[in-house]
Amino acid sequence: MLETYFSASKMLGYLRSGPSGRYLDGFAAALEQQGYSAGTAVRYLRAAAHLGHVVARQGAVPSDIDLAVFSEHLRTCRCPRAMGGRRNHHTIFGARLFRQHLVEIGVCRSAATVLQPAEPCLVAHFKVWLRKHRGASDSTIKLYVRDAAHLMAALGDDPERWEPAAIRSFFLDRANHCGNGTVEKLTTSLRAFLRYLAVKGCCRAGLADVVPGYAHWGLPTCRDIWRRSRWTG
Ligand SMILES: [Zn+2]
Repeated sequence: MLETYFSASKMLGYLRSGPSGRYLDGFAAALEQQGYSAGTAVRYLRAAAHLGHVVARQGAVPSDIDLAVFSEHLRTCRCPRAMGGRRNHHTIFGARLFRQHLVEIGVCRSAATVLQPAEPCLVAHFKVWLRKHRGASDSTIKLYVRDAAHLMAALGDDPERWEPAAIRSFFLDRANHCGNGTVEKLTTSLRAFLRYLAVKGCCRAGLADVVPGYAHWGLPTCRDIWRRSRWTG
């Protein structure tokens, strides 16, 4: 579907390989169905790709899209390939339509139904500990805390019951949605949280080692991570 709007293989590769990539063909089809001109659709598709990269750089996945953050990003955007998505109403509107499309296909929740979940108690303690004992920066703490909260939301609030396989599948599921740099951060934050829990006696020891190591793999693509996970069962 993207081929309708883009012909250069380099551009197509760039669009498809980005964090929004898997949704762009569907988005393009939706734009066509809604009667947008080719010129407008191209702008919106580029905005959607740009948005994906911004979301990924913040360590998030497309389901966590925050349009206010993207709008803020555009004010000072220095992305090497801004995809024509400088700050103008087309970019903002395209991003909004893309988010709407993700809501329609069930990837994002609509703004009305997004509730801020209360921070689990263990995550709150982890946050205090990071600040006090690790001297971590605010941005690092924010990242660690968000990944820790996602892990708890996925695996339940009793870490003593967490199984290695569940942790690994949580990691792979998220890793499959994000870029290499983000996977590395995810590895670091999950390991930090699991080590913290083990030290506090809240989960079995050694769970941090279950999170796939990143550095010694070189720079795997997410596809590689999936393959490796299949090989090692
Ligand atoms: Zn940018």
